[in-house]
Amino acid sequence: MYLPDFDYYAPETLKEACSLLARLNGGASVLAGGTDLLSHMKNELISPKALVSLRRIKGLDTIAYVAEKGLVIGARATHNDLAGSQVLRERYPALPETARVMANNQIRNRGTIGGNIVSAVPSADLPPILIALGASVVIEGPNGTRTVLLEQFFVGPRRSIIAADEVLAGIVIPDQATTGSAYCKFGLRRSGALAVVGVAASVVADGASVTQARIVLGAVAPTPLRARQAETLLAGNAVTESLLEEAGRSAANECRPISDIRGSEEYRRDMVRVFTKRALRKALNIPIQHTGEGT
Ligand SMILES: Cc1cc2nc3c(=O)[nH]c(=O)nc-3n(C[C@H](O)[C@H](O)[C@H](O)COP(=O)(O)OP(=O)(O)OC[C@H]3O[C@@H](n4cnc5c(N)ncnc54)[C@H](O)[C@@H]3O)c2cc1C
Repeated sequence: MYLPDFDYYAPETLKEACSLLARLNGGASVLAGGTDLLSHMKNELISPKALVSLRRIKGLDTIAYVAEKGLVIGARATHNDLAGSQVLRERYPALPETARVMANNQIRNRGTIGGNIVSAVPSADLPPILIALGASVVIEGPNGTRTVLLEQFFVGPRRSIIAADEVLAGIVIPDQATTGSAYCKFGLRRSGALAVVGVAASVVADGASVTQARIVLGAVAPTPLRARQAETLLAGNAVTESLLEEAGRSAANECRPISDIRGSEEYRRDMVRVFTKRALRKALNIPIQHTGEGT
């Protein structure tokens, strides 16, 4: 399999990248790590006339805490950058933990957070945990910058609101009170497998009671999905085994999985039930019971 011919551009600023994309009028793709894009080109699924690489744009791989703004992550930060980030480990350890369960080391070295978001693949691992943490994306275009809640970014499988002349510049996770957060992934192998089901949870608790919870399901709908009924069930209630079970069942009812080679609709629903309980337990720092479900 060979790559088809294409023109290659490596602008030095985001502004330059956006003007190039606008001039190339939909005929170009943004190139980040290339783990998704180049394999699609080799398989002749897409054939952009030009690639606009982000590699020479300075500061796009920075991960930093900015007072009164929150955590700012550059779109070109790789999965291994996230996995090894001290500031992420201190503030939102669920994010580096998620990066560590993605793909293999080779892909984690090249694949970026921006590419993981913009490819808008329903099974992508980072969007659920980022949405659970209330993240927004910063999008740069020829007419300026816009900031959009990540929850509102996805439109369908491999479709998002980003325009052909826009670049995802970064991700912002706002300051927030969080008792804990977690992402639990179920794949067909222990490592290197795409999610059959992924569940992210972010919880604020006051003693034994949940004040607020966000539950986001991956790989079981055309886009990452908030399990809002399960969230409502939890809010204001004391954590008990039966409440967690009820939340799991509610999330299983709310998801919209398909049947494919990696799992049937029914199986995915049941795994949503199991992994929702598991993610909530982990976020609340309650030891996970190994009942044999979903192992
Ligand atoms: C073997 C293998 C295993 C994998 N395992 C996993 C896994 O476990 N979990 C998982 O979630 N994913 C997995 N992936 C998918 C992939 O690696 C990730 O989605 C990765 O994060 C894509 O990032 P990238 O930088 O390589 O994107 P690219 O391939 O460079 O780009 C992907 C798409 O996003 C666009 N794009 C990229 N960056 C930007 C930007 N900043 N602004 C605008 N558009 C942009 C590109 O134009 C393209 O359409 C796997 C892939 C492979 C090949």
